[in-house]
Amino acid sequence: DQLISQIAAGEVVERPASIVKELMENSLDAGAAWIHVDIEHGGLRRIMIRDDGSGIGAEELPLAVARHATSKIDSLGALESVASLGFRGEALASIASVGQLTITSRRAEDAHAWAISPHVSEVVRPAAHDVGTRVEVRELFARIPARRKFLRTPATEFGHIRKAFNQLVLSRFDVGFVLHHDGSETVRLEPATTVDAMRRRVSTLVGGAFDEHAVEVDEQAAGMRLTGWIATPGFSRGQADRQFSYVNARPIRDKVFNHGVRLAYRDLLHNQRHPAYVLYLSVDPRQVDVNAHPAKAEVRFRESRLVHDFVFRSIGRALAAVEA
Ligand code: ADP
Ligand code: MG
Repeated sequence: DQLISQIAAGEVVERPASIVKELMENSLDAGAAWIHVDIEHGGLRRIMIRDDGSGIGAEELPLAVARHATSKIDSLGALESVASLGFRGEALASIASVGQLTITSRRAEDAHAWAISPHVSEVVRPAAHDVGTRVEVRELFARIPARRKFLRTPATEFGHIRKAFNQLVLSRFDVGFVLHHDGSETVRLEPATTVDAMRRRVSTLVGGAFDEHAVEVDEQAAGMRLTGWIATPGFSRGQADRQFSYVNARPIRDKVFNHGVRLAYRDLLHNQRHPAYVLYLSVDPRQVDVNAHPAKAEVRFRESRLVHDFVFRSIGRALAAVEA
């Protein structure tokens, strides 16, 4: 039984970065205004995520760490248009099966916090904590040598964490984020409410002088909308990790989408192989299947040709406007 849950966990919890992603998504789903991420030794020693969101009640804590006991989905209709990032109710259970998990949480109506550490006991205990939730994971994969073997150095694992963090902070400008690694603050992002503040956040994440060279995209057609920023030819430091794409505010990796963007660059600028961009596609939720992959990074479009051509034409228009 434990083996089965560890195998299932492999789909969700591949490496420290996947845990950070799942926990940050939970904090976003909980309506947090600030999310603190604290990493030690590339996440192998410790991952801690703290938020000021809704919190979890004492009765719900044991359920939150049980597989499929919770689900933000209560009907088939809801599955087609999931608004929350998590919906399978298996991230925490998976994490509990591969590391030492402790959740401490308090709702606004609670007199004090409650904590649970499934590796010690299924029973909740009183604890001290502000309103919100703190999730800590220690000794990741310590008892699963076969999995631990596949992890890279702490520096590489932190690089993956940084990438997952970057991707999520560009999906929610209204939320503040802090990232610590081995005791020092790596990034602090204030909630960004103005367009200028949003551009600054984007520039911090994409690097270089992206905001000086970025052109704004805002195109609409056939029930779809594409917004965001793309690099102009003046921004030449395009690298493979400077592409951020979102569908309905969810970070995604999608070949169809990426190809549409790259094709537009190739048509107009010939040599820009890895243009930097931060793009948000809004489509009817029924047009996307976010269930394609357990880690949810991949989506499937019902009409991928339509999406591809829309992205291609939109980027082409934005680039042409700069050329002119
Ligand atoms: P899912 O997000 O798919 O529902 P998870 O295993 O990630 O499943 O989380 C289980 C449940 O625990 C969530 O549905 C939510 O009710 C609760 N939960 C997890 N993290 C938090 C958090 N940071 N704040 C409030 N509730 C949380
Ligand atoms: Mg979740």
